[in-house]
Amino acid sequence: MFSNRSRPHREMKPYQLGLVGHPLTHSVSPAIHRMALAAAGLDGEYRLHPVPPPPEGLAEMERLLAGMRMGEIDGLNVTIPHKQNIIPYLDRLDPAARAVGAVNTISPEDGRLVGRNTDIGGFRRDLARTLAPAPGRALVLGAGGAARAVTYALLKDGWVVSVAARQLEQARELVRQLAGIGEVLPLPLPAGGVEALQPTLIVNTTPLGMAPHTAGSPWPADRPFPPGSAAYDLVYNPRQTAFLEAARAQGIPFAGGVGMLVEQAALAFQTWTGVLPPFDPLMEAAGEALMTMRKDRS
Ligand code: NAP
Repeated sequence: MFSNRSRPHREMKPYQLGLVGHPLTHSVSPAIHRMALAAAGLDGEYRLHPVPPPPEGLAEMERLLAGMRMGEIDGLNVTIPHKQNIIPYLDRLDPAARAVGAVNTISPEDGRLVGRNTDIGGFRRDLARTLAPAPGRALVLGAGGAARAVTYALLKDGWVVSVAARQLEQARELVRQLAGIGEVLPLPLPAGGVEALQPTLIVNTTPLGMAPHTAGSPWPADRPFPPGSAAYDLVYNPRQTAFLEAARAQGIPFAGGVGMLVEQAALAFQTWTGVLPPFDPLMEAAGEALMTMRKDRS
C-alpha cells in the first residue's frame, strides 16, 4: 500500500485536485490528471480554478488555500501568473522550488501548505527518456520561470549552461540566482557566437512557436545547429514547432515538450496520492486533448 502523508484519515474520500492560473481556457492538465486517477484506480476529480492575479484574484486565492488547509482540496497545480506570487502564502518550499523561486504544485501536509516545482523533475525525466544526452554544454533560450527550472535540472546533472535572453539583465538575474549550483553564463538572444560555445543541447524555454503564432522560433530556420547537438522545445502545442522543424530538417535529434508536461503532472500526482501513474496512458490523454484543442480552434 502506498503512503500518503497529506491525507492519512481520508482514504475513502474522492481526491479533490485542481489547477489555479489565469486564463485557463486551453488546459491539457484535466485530461492528464483524470487519466492518472483512472490508471491509479483512485476516485476523484481535477478542477480548473481560473483566478486572476492579485489584487483582483487575491480573495479567491485565499479562499482556495484556506480550503486546502481544511482538507477540502488535496492538491493544486499552479500555472501562469501565480507560480511566483503564490510563494508568500505557503508555509514551506522544498529546496528545489526555493532555489528556482517558482512553485507549480502545492500539497497540504499536516495542515501546512508545501510548494514544490515538478517542472524540474518533469524536464529531467523527459530529457532522459527522449534524447538521453550525456552532460556537456547546454544553451537555454529564454530566461523566465521555465528556464530557471530547466537550468536548475541541467546544472544538477553536471551540465555547463549558457542562458540567452532578449533582455540580457533577465539572463544575468537567473545566473545570480543559480550560480551556486553550477557553472552558468548569461548571453544576449539572438545568441551570437553560439558556435564557439559548442553546445550539445539547445533548449527553447521561450513561448516562441506556440499556437496560434506557430511560425515563431528562437532559432532562424537557416541557421546551422552546432554539429553533434540536439534540440528540446518546451512548447507542446503544436507538437512539431518551427524550432523542432529546423532541427528535423538539419538531421539533428529533437524532442518536444508534451512529454515534460506529462512527467511534471505525474510527479505532482505522486506527491498528492503516493502513486506515480504510468507514462503511456497519460501521454495518450494529453495527445487527444491537444488534438481536440486544435480542432476547436480551426
Ligand atoms: P515566462 O516566465 O513568461 O518566460 C518566458 C521567457 O521567454 C522570458 O525570458 C521572455 O522574455 C522570453 N520571451 C517571450 N517572448 C519572446 C520573444 N518573442 N523573443 C524572445 N524571448 C521571448 O514563461 P515560462 O513560464 O518560462 O514559460 C515559457 C514557455 O514554456 C511557455 O510556452 C510554456 O507553455 C512552456 N512551458 C512548458 C512546460 C512543459 O511542461 N512542457 C512547462 C513550463 C513551461 P521577456 O521577459 O523579454 O518577454
